[in-house]
Amino acid sequence: MSTATHEPTSLVCQNTECKKEFIVIASEEKFYANKHLPLPDHCPACRHRQRMALRSERQLYRRTCDKCKKSILSVYPQEAPYVVYCHTCFWENIE
Ligand SMILES: [Zn+2]
Ligand SMILES: [Zn+2]
Repeated sequence: MSTATHEPTSLVCQNTECKKEFIVIASEEKFYANKHLPLPDHCPACRHRQRMALRSERQLYRRTCDKCKKSILSVYPQEAPYVVYCHTCFWENIE
């Protein structure tokens, strides 16, 4: 029996006005893992909009994971009203 080793991850956009389901493909997942970033919580369209909004300032902030307190890089600064997990905690959290 041969099953696919890595199925695309299906996520739901966290934009309350969108809530669209979107897929994170394996190569994209690897990209985020390499950069020690959590997987996106917004669909590509919303992310594009966010990116346009802060295109003059595409900065990553060093902050701590809200769970294990490990130092990570995030598009959200420490004081942002979002819960930000490191890659490891993110996956633990959805399982
Ligand atoms: Zn969206
Ligand atoms: Zn963590």
